[in-house]
Amino acid sequence: MDKPKSISRRTWLKKTARIAATAVLYTSVDWSVAAATETTKKATKASVHYQGHPKDGKMCGMCKYFIPPGGVAGHGMMSGMMGVGMMRDGACQVVQGRISPMGYCTLYTPA
Ligand code: SF4
Repeated sequence: MDKPKSISRRTWLKKTARIAATAVLYTSVDWSVAAATETTKKATKASVHYQGHPKDGKMCGMCKYFIPPGGVAGHGMMSGMMGVGMMRDGACQVVQGRISPMGYCTLYTPA
C-alpha cells in the first residue's frame, strides 16, 4: 500500500497563492467584460453624426429612442416631465452619453 503523499509548506503556500490569484483574475475579468458590454451596446455620438441642433425639423425630443430626464423611451419628450424640465438633456436608448432634446443623429426615428 502506498503512503499518502505529503507536500511541503512551501508547495502548499504556492498552490494556495496561485488559486487566490486565479480567483482574483476571474473576478476582475468578469467586471471588465460587463463594463465593456455596457458601453458597447450603444453607438458613439461620432459614429451616428450626432449634432446638438435639429435637422430639417427632426430632433431627439421627437425620436422614439429619446429618454427624457425622469421619463421612459418610446414617446419622445412626451414621456418625460412636461414644463420646466422638458428641455433638459436626457439619454438615448441607442446612442451613448447625454442627449439634448434639440439634438439629432442619423438613427432618428419618429416617435
Ligand atoms: S437615436 Fe439619435 S435622434 Fe434619436 S434620440 Fe438617439 S441621438 Fe437623438
